[in-house]
Amino acid sequence: MLKYLLIAVVVVWLLYSPFLRKARQLKRKQRPAATTATTGPAQPPQVEDMVACAHCGVHLPASEACRDTAGRAYCSAAHRDAGPSSH
Ligand SMILES: [Zn+2]
Repeated sequence: MLKYLLIAVVVVWLLYSPFLRKARQLKRKQRPAATTATTGPAQPPQVEDMVACAHCGVHLPASEACRDTAGRAYCSAAHRDAGPSSH
């Protein structure tokens, strides 16, 4: 009677062990996928055109520059009113 019980245990173990191995492999595969999903792709830095102030020569982003009627870029309204430097 004990023989059959041992055979039954071995047969059950052989049937279930491949499924257990597959389940373990799936768990191992899911872990790296979850970690990579949290870290998104690195976004490239935003590149903006730089312009030089026509009065003092300081560089600033084109979107922050003050423009006069001629289209020259200035760092501030005060330098725009002062106009381009003579030298
Ligand atoms: Zn300036």
